[in-house]
Formats: sequence, C-alpha cells, structure tokens
Amino acid sequence: MTTNYYIDIENMELISDDRIDLSKKEKELIVKKLLEAHKLALANFSSGNITHRGFAANICDNNNNWALGTNFNNTRNEISSICAERSAILSLYNSLLIEYMQKNKTEKFDFKIKYICMAQNIPLDKTATTPPPCEDCLSWLNTNRFFDNKTIIFSFEKNKNNTLALRAIKLSSLLPYKDVLTSTDGGLKKIVFANDSIKLSEKEIYSLIEKTCDLYKNNKFAFVSNQNISCSILVNNEIFSASKIDWTKRWFLEPLEFACAKAIEKYGNDLKIDAVCYFGDEYSKNNEEIFFDGTISIKSLGRIRRKYAKDCTPLILNLKDSILVTTIAQYLPKKFIQGYKI
Ligand SMILES: [Zn+2]
Repeated sequence: MTTNYYIDIENMELISDDRIDLSKKEKELIVKKLLEAHKLALANFSSGNITHRGFAANICDNNNNWALGTNFNNTRNEISSICAERSAILSLYNSLLIEYMQKNKTEKFDFKIKYICMAQNIPLDKTATTPPPCEDCLSWLNTNRFFDNKTIIFSFEKNKNNTLALRAIKLSSLLPYKDVLTSTDGGLKKIVFANDSIKLSEKEIYSLIEKTCDLYKNNKFAFVSNQNISCSILVNNEIFSASKIDWTKRWFLEPLEFACAKAIEKYGNDLKIDAVCYFGDEYSKNNEEIFFDGTISIKSLGRIRRKYAKDCTPLILNLKDSILVTTIAQYLPKKFIQGYKI
C-alpha cells in the first residue's frame, strides 16, 4: 500500500463552518501532521489491529508540543479500547509531565490542547470524509480542563471537485451547550420546545419529569460520588426509569442505559424510544470538593441513538425556570459556552 501522494498544500481548500484562519505556515504544518497521522493509521491497520481499522491523531498543545497516538484495541469492546485522539492526548500529557517533573518546575503544569489532527487508514485518494470523534471521545473532551472553545479538529476530506481538502472544525461545535445547566428545583414549570417538530403532549412531559424527579428523591445508591441522577424513557406510553448506582467514586451504572435495559428486556429488538428525560445533580462531591461532571451522559445518548432512538428523539431537561424539550441531535452537537468551572 503506497503512502506517497502528491499534495498541493498551498492550494488545498480549507473547509469549515466555523471561522478558522490559518497562516500559510500553520496550514503546511497541519497537513504535514495529518500525513504523519495517516501513516501511523496505516501502520496500525497493517499490524493486524483486531478491529480491522487504523486511526491516528497528531495533537498539539498551546505551547506547540506535538504527539502522535493510534487506536489501541485489546478486544473489540469499550473497556479495553481507546481511540486515537485519547491515545495521542495521553502520550503528550505523559511526556510533558515527565519533562516537567525532571525540570523541577515550580509554576503550574500547563496543558491545553490546541489542535487534534485526525486520520484513518483509508488511502487518501479514497478518503471521502474522516469520522469526527465518537461519543466516548466527546464525553472525554467535554471538559474545560484540557480543552477549550479554541481547540480545533483537523482531518482530510474530499471537496466538491473531488480533490483532497482540509476540514477544520471547532471542538466546541461538536459538544453540547454547557451554558444550559439542568436544575433539581422541582415544581410545575412552563414547557419550552426547542423546535416545532417535537410531538410530545404536556401530559407526557410532566409525567416523565414527575416520575424521574420522584426516583431521584428516593435514590439511595448514589452515595459514594454524592452525585445523584435519574433518567426515564417513554416507550409505547409506558415509562421506564432508573437511577444512578455508584460502584465506587469513579464507576457507576448510568441511569439512561439502565432504564433502556429494562425496556429492552420487555420489548427486545423492537424497542423504540419515544422520549428521554434526565433529572439530577450537575456535579459530584468528594471531601467537600465539587466536580462538575454534568447530568446528561453524552456517551449514553450516543449509544442509544445508534439503535433504539433517533436523532429526533425528544430529550426533556429540567432547567431552573422551565422544562426544555429538545432532541438528541440538537443536544449533542450544540456549541458550548464555558459554563463549568473545572
Ligand atoms: Zn473515539
């Protein structure tokens, strides 16, 4: 498999829905880094990766340090797999921290990701688009600690003329809007529909909120993290609910997946989720320290929309002054404004 292509970097089109300006030099560097990542993705594929796919990412921090990483798959399941983006981030984090430790630096360790350059093993002449980060990666990237609204994701894709182009997208364009925090204030609130196509009655919405809130109040299994969350789904006019169950501070049973499991048990593969409702705490508490981990699981929403729900499935959120009824698709890729203090 050849990895040599003629690439006219100077005239390569930069495709983006966000306002992204790159200097000529910066663009050249990004393309070079994407080519390096592509080569590594090919190598990982050739090595006989168990998933039969090779991905790689070349990432850059705010101090212009770069690192490469590739998808790491012990098995095909999520527990023993890590995507290229996360693998590259960990590689850079570790090497910079080791450097920092050896230099005995006294200032704060500064680590913010500026660029994520993503590539796959598909030959460049056959590359149409590159998949964006998966929901597992997005839930990982959905914090302000190492990423911010300046972080940009680059990849190769074909433009309208069937020529290789550079796609740039702000990470914030792929993440939920973090300025909309949910609330645990109960009471009857007005319902706000995020778009006209959502077909849910007030009765259905209030019943979902009420049932989820009741469950939240009575959940006794989220005592380790001190972050209590409940979730309900509507299926054939029936509500299936579940609450978060903590195993340890770090591990828990996610309520959306738990509620879905109950419904799957009853309806099997024919399960069609008509609505999702979340209610709970936005943060966990550990020794009086607060960690804003968020109520809604991007990861779980991503999982259910692959099979039992759709992008247009309504998502009901209890806010401070209203009940917001949005959709999974509208929630997942919303722009985020810095809302969490991490
Ligand atoms: Zn991923």
